[in-house]
Amino acid sequence: MKIKRLELSGFKSFVDRTVVNFDHAIMGIVGPNGCGKSNIVDAIRWCMGEQSAKHLRGKSMEDVIFNGSESRTPADFAEVTLTFENDDPTDVPIEYKDYAEIAVTRRLHRTGDSEYLINKTPVRLKDITDLFLGTGVGTKAYSIVEQGKIGLIVSAKPEDRRLLIEEAAGITKFKSRKKQAERK
Ligand code: ATP
Ligand code: MG
Repeated sequence: MKIKRLELSGFKSFVDRTVVNFDHAIMGIVGPNGCGKSNIVDAIRWCMGEQSAKHLRGKSMEDVIFNGSESRTPADFAEVTLTFENDDPTDVPIEYKDYAEIAVTRRLHRTGDSEYLINKTPVRLKDITDLFLGTGVGTKAYSIVEQGKIGLIVSAKPEDRRLLIEEAAGITKFKSRKKQAERK
């Protein structure tokens, strides 16, 4: 699964609809301090289902919604859509294997109402998590290497390091399904 496009609206500093196209294999996002570079990474993480406000550098989840400026009123909701190229359909749950693109949307209203969508159809958070299991992307996977992550991997307990290797090998999803089946 390759990220093709990120669309933000009302998310943190991105009050107006902003589209970032990931057209090249390697891309850099540059700009002065405070211009929103890290907010882009937060948006990707949030859209993939991140539940911890702290991991998104906020106090509460509402902090992801544009909170106004001198010239603009606060936004009512934040919305992020992350579009993936479905380059290896064996990676994804069977119901999505025929789609060329998979678009994941997360929306949060100031009222607290929240929605997740896959290809514009409402889904549960669990469907989003399942979509990414075993692909190496996802909020807990290794696709986002933030400050201190390498040190964490190097000094992790062998059992914890094993989890990363299992995710890279694509077997986490089978372990998760086995656990679910055993619970039934
Ligand atoms: P640096 O180079 O220092 O790492 P950066 O480009 O990564 O900077 P970010 O951390 O992405 O910058 O952006 C910080 C900016 O986002 C701040 O100006 C902050 O006010 C703004 N911001 C964060 N949350 C919101 C919000 N809810 N509403 C409006 N602006 C926000
Ligand atoms: Mg930053």
